[in-house]
Formats: sequence, structure tokens, C-alpha cells
Amino acid sequence: MTTLASLLSTASNGAEGLSRVRTAVAVSASSYGCGKLLTQMLSITGTAYWCRTNGLELQALRTGPAPEPDSTLVAVVAGNDVVPNAHPTMTFQVLPDDEGNPRVYVRPDPFGPVWSGIGLWHEFSHVNDYHRNDLRPHVNTAEMNQGTEGRAYLLEAIAIDVMTGGTFLDALNAWLQAGGRDKLATGASLRWIDDVQRLLQGEGAEPVRSQANKDLRGGGLGVIAHLADLAYPTSLKDLDDAWSFGPGLVAAMARMESASD
Ligand SMILES: [Zn+2]
Repeated sequence: MTTLASLLSTASNGAEGLSRVRTAVAVSASSYGCGKLLTQMLSITGTAYWCRTNGLELQALRTGPAPEPDSTLVAVVAGNDVVPNAHPTMTFQVLPDDEGNPRVYVRPDPFGPVWSGIGLWHEFSHVNDYHRNDLRPHVNTAEMNQGTEGRAYLLEAIAIDVMTGGTFLDALNAWLQAGGRDKLATGASLRWIDDVQRLLQGEGAEPVRSQANKDLRGGGLGVIAHLADLAYPTSLKDLDDAWSFGPGLVAAMARMESASD
């Protein structure tokens, strides 16, 4: 059941988490390959404006930069009836508004700050693509599943890495080398995701608070493991070509979906 308390809790955890991710990325951006993309992300996430819904009316939840005409409104919605076409398992989702501007929606599932920050960072990558005119504001279409998801998961991988004190991506490549690549190639089940979960350290290992939180973390880590496999032996840390994960990523995601059936 949606209560005002759960709306406020998800919103403030998301605001805190996104702020922590931004700070950690800003400190360490120079140690990653895709510095230009990170700089764009730092500027676009800074325009987030936090609101909550009162019915369909949006009310400011906390003070922040006043939204510019094209700034991103982060809305906390009371239910999927407010968000047309929302995927039932997605807590964070970018969708166009009536004017076609991207809006990031948050459903009030129980989430800790770190993983809500990581989830929002992923969605803001799609917003960034929209502002670069590299993404028409459609979701669940072929173009959404090509380059833009590759970029979003690469940026998500970097967010996880900074929240684990810079340990995750090195550990992921070591796991790939020590048999992980074989598990990804042959695994009919997704049990290897447990291996990848064990690579999380520090803040990145924040306990999961809900099934939605568990699903987002497991799904994200699964796709990132496939991305790291596609980039191997180059670490995602060093990758500057964030536009290279088209068909390979789509095939990897399809394999994951069939393995989870
Ligand atoms: Zn996405």
C-alpha cells in the first residue's frame, strides 16, 4: 500500500543516493575512460528537481535548483496508473511527458539510498541521451535497446565501482578470467549472478530492502557482467567507447531473459 511516508522515504533516499553517487563520481571521474560522458552526466543529474504527487498534481518535496524549461523533473508517483506503460517491475523509469520531454519516475518501493542512487543514475543516462538528441523519447522500442542501454549500464557499472571504493570492476575482470567467462557462455541458469553479488564491497553491498531492490540489483549486475565480457580483456573502467554495445548487448540480455524463465 502506498503511504505518504513511503513516498517521502523513497524520494529522500533517492535524492541522497543520487547525490552520493554524483559526489563519488566527481571525485574519481579522471580514473575512468569515458570522462566526457561522466562530465555530461554530472551536469544533467545536477538539474534534478524533486517532487511528489498529490493525485496528479506535483508538489515540491525539497528545495533545489528551480527547473529550467528543459530540466528534468523527478517525480514520485503514487501508482502505476499515473505512469502510462510503466513496467510493473521497474522502480525507476524514464518516460516522455505530454510534450515529449523525458521525465524520470520513481515508484515508492523500499530501497536504500545507494541502490536508489545507482538506479536513478542509470535513468539519467537515458535522459542525457535524449538531450544529446540520441534517443527519441520512446521506451521499450528497438532504439531503446541498442546503444542507449549499453551506455546506461556502462555508467551504472561505474557508479557501482565508485560506491565500492573502486574495487568492483577489477574484481569483475578477475572473476571473468577465473572461469566467469565460461559460466556466462554456458550457464543455463543465472546462479553465476550470486558470484557477481559477492564482488560487492563497502557501500555497494548495501543490504537489499525489497524484492524490487533485489531484482534491480541482480538484473543490473547480470547485464554488467555480460558487458564486461564483451569488453574483455579491456576493463569497463578503461573503456572510452561507450557506443559499442549494440547487438552484443541485446543478445546477452535475451540470453539472460531465457535463462530466468
Ligand atoms: Zn535502461
